[in-house]
Amino acid sequence: MDEVLAKNMKQQNAKKNYELSIDIIKNGFPKDRGTEEKIQSLSQLIRFHEWRYYVLNDPLLSDKEYDSLFKLLEALEQEQPLFIKPDSPTQRVSSDLNDDFKNVAHLTAMLSLDNSYNLEDLQDFDERIKKLALIDTEEDIEYAVEPKFDGGSIALVFENDVLSRAATRGNGVKGDDITNNVKALKSVPIHAAFSSQGLKKVELRGEAIIPKNVFDKINSQREKEGQAIFANPRNAATGGLRMKDPQETAKRGIEAFIYQLGYAENKDGQNALSQFSKHDEMIALLGELGFKIPIKERKVCKNIKEVFKFVSGWENKRESYPYEIDGMVIKVNDLKLQEKCGFTSHHPRWAIAYKFKAKQATSKLLNIDYQIGKIGSITPVAKIEPVQLAGVTVSSISLHNEDFITSKDIRLGDTVLVERAGDVIPYIVKAMDELRDGKEQHIKFPSSCPSCDTALIRSEKEAAWRCPNFQCEAQILQRMIFHVSKGAMDIDGFGKSLVERFYKEEFVKSLADIYRLDYESISKLDGFGKKSAQNLEKAINTAKTKPISRLLHSLSIHHFGKKASKLVAAEIEHVLELKNWTLENFTEIKDIGPVVAENVISWFMDENNVKLLEEMESLGVNLRQTEEDKPLIVDADAPLIGKTILFTGTLHQMGRKEAQSLAESAGAKNISAVSKNLNILVAGEKAGSKLKKAQALGSVDILTEEEFIKLINR
Ligand SMILES: [Zn+2]
Repeated sequence: MDEVLAKNMKQQNAKKNYELSIDIIKNGFPKDRGTEEKIQSLSQLIRFHEWRYYVLNDPLLSDKEYDSLFKLLEALEQEQPLFIKPDSPTQRVSSDLNDDFKNVAHLTAMLSLDNSYNLEDLQDFDERIKKLALIDTEEDIEYAVEPKFDGGSIALVFENDVLSRAATRGNGVKGDDITNNVKALKSVPIHAAFSSQGLKKVELRGEAIIPKNVFDKINSQREKEGQAIFANPRNAATGGLRMKDPQETAKRGIEAFIYQLGYAENKDGQNALSQFSKHDEMIALLGELGFKIPIKERKVCKNIKEVFKFVSGWENKRESYPYEIDGMVIKVNDLKLQEKCGFTSHHPRWAIAYKFKAKQATSKLLNIDYQIGKIGSITPVAKIEPVQLAGVTVSSISLHNEDFITSKDIRLGDTVLVERAGDVIPYIVKAMDELRDGKEQHIKFPSSCPSCDTALIRSEKEAAWRCPNFQCEAQILQRMIFHVSKGAMDIDGFGKSLVERFYKEEFVKSLADIYRLDYESISKLDGFGKKSAQNLEKAINTAKTKPISRLLHSLSIHHFGKKASKLVAAEIEHVLELKNWTLENFTEIKDIGPVVAENVISWFMDENNVKLLEEMESLGVNLRQTEEDKPLIVDADAPLIGKTILFTGTLHQMGRKEAQSLAESAGAKNISAVSKNLNILVAGEKAGSKLKKAQALGSVDILTEEEFIKLINR
């Protein structure tokens, strides 16, 4: 078949199946459908989504959406068991079988897990178990809880203490034989002393996973080499297990966590699982035999309430954990009790997965807003249909710049995949092009400023389009917001929303207006009073006396940052001297480059800007060099001249800041990390890793606080 045609057909299928699935989840089936027909169409849809997830690694539905379809099918089949077909998705676990590898049968089936999402689900699970095992509802059941690693499942067979076979999960009954590839994984022992426990043949379950930091390295390397990057560590791990060449598998940095002993037989060929009484003991034993098992991440909880507390705690710290986990697994700890509960055809009844709130979701791209920054940079911001991501509602997401939109081929009306990980700002992973219906529109980046209509410019070195009009109103507003902020003039109580409000009320139209506010009128504003107006006046009056390094920085001159502002402020007596400064004046200062210099020069060439400063000065804003602006004068024979220094641990005679400035006035330069460039480490009480590192380097002078004081007073 023609390749384009094939792609189109696949695409249309995806769209049709996706929409049908969402419709069923939201609205259920049309009333006139019979049960058999419903079961049939659900089975087809679920098989399609399983193929997207397990084979293509490119799911269209969230886990929760998939679960709803699956549960609906289960319910219908329970209603009408006659219609259950042997190939129904409920009758087998889903498959990741691949034709390139030999299929091998697992010693016992690897089932999926049922899912839970909240305390209620967990309590239902706890109740079900009590019912199955005829346990009084008041009694506590002990549960073993471990992370649910988001990688690829594997099954390892050991015979006579030697790893004889490794397989993927496959369809749960059979998997792909990946023995040679797994042997390349350093975290999997090839030999383990099962015979010391009287065991001749065992099958272990585990998860192959790539640590997040290794994953990032792999992706940036691939990006450099022009290869496609992996969507997530799971894709990279499952793909890595299936490499033709075990050497390539080894390079992926895959690790394997073992979380279950699924099968065990003794030297007489008898089932030997019954020699264990608790799941947790079994796992601890595997750890002693040399396998990688969850340690701190594993806990035996005395009842379901404690389970919920433990898993909620992990939901909060999952981001700082070095491996990707999408939930926790809860297992009945008592193996006899597990046996009593048994299995459905799909999952064990004695275990459940607790799924964390989704970090990814799909949404519709409704519109694009173009925001204008303080130096005129235009940032496109996507307005999307609000979605819940990791517990937060998200409705607008930065698209960064035009190249970002082009490279991801994002179009208006697209269904987009959105992700939010931890405190990271949400971002658009991709547009789901298969779900397009042809009505989507290419995004046309504006050629002129949305605020002042000036033609936009873009320099070769920069990703952003900019409005070059310095008098652009949108920019002036952003500059005022920056001017009063903590990093600039630091006007206490004067935040973004207040600037926006004053701007709307036409109290402030330029930076100078900030210093001629009418506090009488302000005190009469809604939400204000005499007291808060007075406080604001006080804060603004304080700002008038601040060092000129702050003022220079607060002007929002492109690239003219805090450090450069300080360096320049140290060289001038009055800000307006800069009107006459040449390129050489600037570049004579160490650490000031020609780009910043040009920007400052052209800023001062604009008469409006000079007028602005004169106006500010007439309103009482300080333009003269202050003591704080003056350069630190260090004697040529100062005790620490030319040395680098770092303080660690708790100091007793002075604060950290004070110590640093003392060191500076003694000629030293404070640095923040231990490296070969460090000369002196002052180690206070409870100094930790930095001290160790410095000791290991051997080249660093390590001083106590007292020795440091003695040295600077020399
Ligand atoms: Zn503009």
